[in-house]
Amino acid sequence: MTMRSIYLDNAATTKMSSTAIQAMLPYMSETYGNPSSLHSAGQRAAEALADARKRVADCLGCSPNEITFTSGGSEADNQAIISAAYFGKRKGKTHIISTAFEHHAVLHTLKKLEKEGFEVTLLDVHENGIVTPEDVAAAIRSETCLVTVMYANNEIGTIQPIKEIGQVCRDKGVLFHTDAVQAVGHLHIDVKDQNIDMLSLAAHKFHGPKGVGVLYAKRGIPLTNVIEGGAQERGKRGGTENVPAIIGMTAALEDACRNIDTNASKVSALRDKLICGLSKIPHSVLNGDAVHRLPGNVNFCFEGIEGESLLLLLDDKGICASSGSACTSGSLDPSHVLLAIGRPHEIAHGSLRLSLSEETTEEEVDYAINTVTDVVTTLRNMSPVWRDLVNGKSEFVIK
Ligand SMILES: *Cc1c(COP(=O)(O)O)cnc(C)c1O
Repeated sequence: MTMRSIYLDNAATTKMSSTAIQAMLPYMSETYGNPSSLHSAGQRAAEALADARKRVADCLGCSPNEITFTSGGSEADNQAIISAAYFGKRKGKTHIISTAFEHHAVLHTLKKLEKEGFEVTLLDVHENGIVTPEDVAAAIRSETCLVTVMYANNEIGTIQPIKEIGQVCRDKGVLFHTDAVQAVGHLHIDVKDQNIDMLSLAAHKFHGPKGVGVLYAKRGIPLTNVIEGGAQERGKRGGTENVPAIIGMTAALEDACRNIDTNASKVSALRDKLICGLSKIPHSVLNGDAVHRLPGNVNFCFEGIEGESLLLLLDDKGICASSGSACTSGSLDPSHVLLAIGRPHEIAHGSLRLSLSEETTEEEVDYAINTVTDVVTTLRNMSPVWRDLVNGKSEFVIK
């Protein structure tokens, strides 16, 4: 007998679609040439690469020569920020604005730049997990070279007013980068219309393969190499292109963009059912804005619970979920995202992220509601912290 397995961790990664897999197969067998080779096998791969670049550009609303293929979201974030920072420095501008709840690919790159003498301002994301264009405008100075604000947060799913922030940056002549890894394939993107100068995406968050992504950089922004090597990607990213992965990503992206509205309405209806069900658990709170939220994201804090124990018990019952971010699991620090929206440490420790996909069913959502409710009750009954709360020896933080 196989145990049922319900995958509710699509913000960590997604299952590859059969469209993506089928699109990749020929590039692992027949058409395996190196796109830099001059012979016909290489040229066939080069043509496929050029075609993929054009199709990705069409999905984002830019031109093919503004697309750089990378090894994923992290590399794209690194290269975008380092490029904009060094470009600014050459003009004497060394101030960067970002937010406290970015992905570590952004935050750790900013830390590195601080050691090189850049000054970084991290904006408050407020209790609802949303940065305001006004806050961005107020933080911009004459030395500001870059604003980098994520499109949608990977833990709490909040969607930022990207077009408005982009407009503020454009008006003040500051470059604007967005880590759109959680947004691409799930929300409509048009970089020109949304005033985006640079954007990062990763294929494995929309049913494409792992280890491949894109950096979009508007024409005229000089890129700094993060990977030195051959003349691939206009000399801006050395290394033989991962042709099968790039083709798979392109197929997955087109698929996602074609079905974006249907998927969003289906998935957000399930999300709202799940949110409604979990809200009935006493002393629980939804993290992040209820409306400006990714279609597939649910994130709660439960008082008196350890997130890790919750995950283990849920896994026992066939539910794959996440607490905090996958990148910080294994560390004892609570999620920097939950701290950024003002959750106290002990509450941040009791968090649960369930992230849905188009394949999630209503039956799975019902099972998740019942199972999480049961598991939270079980854990609380075993917890001395909970006993003190119930007996009035300590006070509830979540009413
Ligand atoms: C997953 C993720 C990344 C990292 O992308 P990789 O392809 O895994 O390197 C960066 N930013 C956000 C918001 C993400 O969700």
